[in-house]
Amino acid sequence: MEKYTGKTVFNGIAIGRILYYAKEQEPIVRKRIEDTEVELLRYEQAKETAVKQLRELYEKALPEVGEVNAQIFEVHSMLLEDEDYNESVTNMIRSQKVNAEYAVTKAGEHFAEMFSNMDDAYFRGRAADMKDISERVTRILLGRENTGEMGTEPVIVAAEDLAPSETVKMDKSKLLGFVTRFGSINSHTAILARTMSIPALIGIEIKKEWDKKQAIIDGKEGIFYVDPDEATLLEYRKKKEKEEERKRLYQTLKGKETVTRSGKKVRLYANIGNVADLATVLLNDAEGIGLFRSEFLYLESKDYPTEEEQFQVYKRVAETMAGKKVIIRTLDIGADKQADYFGLEKEENPAMGFRAIRICLARPEIFKTQLRALFRASAYGTISIMYPMITSLEEVRQIRRLSMEARQELEAAGITVGQVEEGIMIETPAAALISDQLAKEVDFFSIGTNDLTQYTLAIDRQNPSLDEFYNAHHEAVLRMIHMVAQNAHAAGIWVGICGELGADMELTETFLEMGIDELSVSPGYILPIRKIILDAK
Ligand code: PEP
Ligand code: MG
Repeated sequence: MEKYTGKTVFNGIAIGRILYYAKEQEPIVRKRIEDTEVELLRYEQAKETAVKQLRELYEKALPEVGEVNAQIFEVHSMLLEDEDYNESVTNMIRSQKVNAEYAVTKAGEHFAEMFSNMDDAYFRGRAADMKDISERVTRILLGRENTGEMGTEPVIVAAEDLAPSETVKMDKSKLLGFVTRFGSINSHTAILARTMSIPALIGIEIKKEWDKKQAIIDGKEGIFYVDPDEATLLEYRKKKEKEEERKRLYQTLKGKETVTRSGKKVRLYANIGNVADLATVLLNDAEGIGLFRSEFLYLESKDYPTEEEQFQVYKRVAETMAGKKVIIRTLDIGADKQADYFGLEKEENPAMGFRAIRICLARPEIFKTQLRALFRASAYGTISIMYPMITSLEEVRQIRRLSMEARQELEAAGITVGQVEEGIMIETPAAALISDQLAKEVDFFSIGTNDLTQYTLAIDRQNPSLDEFYNAHHEAVLRMIHMVAQNAHAAGIWVGICGELGADMELTETFLEMGIDELSVSPGYILPIRKIILDAK
């Protein structure tokens, strides 16, 4: 038995087999080869294996996700057989005498770039596929057998690092928990784990040979066991049973109004990243959705999601919540949330860079597509729109002009639009300090304590070595929250908290005293917080 300690992202116990998630970060090096025929043969064999893998994946996916979704593997097979692509690889091997993995990588990059510059959205979408297939062949060539693909059994994923775009693509029903070496507890990957209520630890030295071994995550104590002995397994199976029992007890709080003993009511909403999270939202009796991080929709896609695609998702969320409030945050991409097709430049300081509303205002066609989808969906439930990363009044006015345009265009086309509240996130010190002025322009505030803490304390939330300095209980942060609440109420609007601090149970009573009207937290925290509020004075 091996025992490791790490930092807790989400508590809870997971018991299961490890899936070592191999990230192909080691750069592919150009090597000169003498025997081109041998290299060509290596390429042909790797390609054959890739086609075989894709066939197997197609057959496995078909009953699980249906024909339309499984087709992606067929598309990949076809792209692998593409004549131009193959010629590009083999020519490079022959004429430049380079190793096959280098030629495949270069051809993949070249074709991806070519596709991403095409006008047709279908072809632009193929850019990421070209990269995918090249990576598959390269993996085979390098003998990196483990593809990180999830099988049918639920697993504990062990990875050096996980980007939000990778986490969001994982099949949640097969994910028992995850452990990573890198990543910070305030990163979006960590937030995703909390949203899915899965036990997760960071700061664990990951070993490739753990693959398929039995393991236990103790999220509460921050311990990870590999190959646990019988006694430890038994102990944790008992602990897990107790955990399940506690969850059942919390279930008795379902349907209860979230109100203190003296009658102060707080709305308890849930944070979600996609439609799949709705199941835990309903299970935990959220009174609404306080933050739908819509950018995950973009991260799951290989190209800009169309108005219709977005409309279907927002409509589904609105309908599922059956009239309860659903606050959808507009695209907050950039920093740690990257999608290739946006073509964003590498930045020195991405957290303070070209992100979120800055991108939306610079590229209004992307923004208006989303706004139109949101307004259309508003006819099917109670949708509110929330804008991220606000720093000035001018931004808010510009946003309101664009949103007005989107609404009017739809109405002129005879499309029904519902009543939509429009609010902003208060997550920069600038917005907090001018919240008295901003409050006059919008319908509500939602305080994003994750970024507010990062910018107030000048601490990169992505940097794990700064976790101990990331003190969201800092007096400066708490004073700002209080000030924002006072300014909101003075202007007659409501104020909530949707950052992770909203779920900090040590502060629940403080937030009640400040007059916070809504707390939006990961679904798994709703019932425990309801219990605290019911017991509060
Ligand atoms: C926040 O910054 O507190 C927030 C809720 O947004 P995100 O974590 O997605 O940046
Ligand atoms: Mg934020």
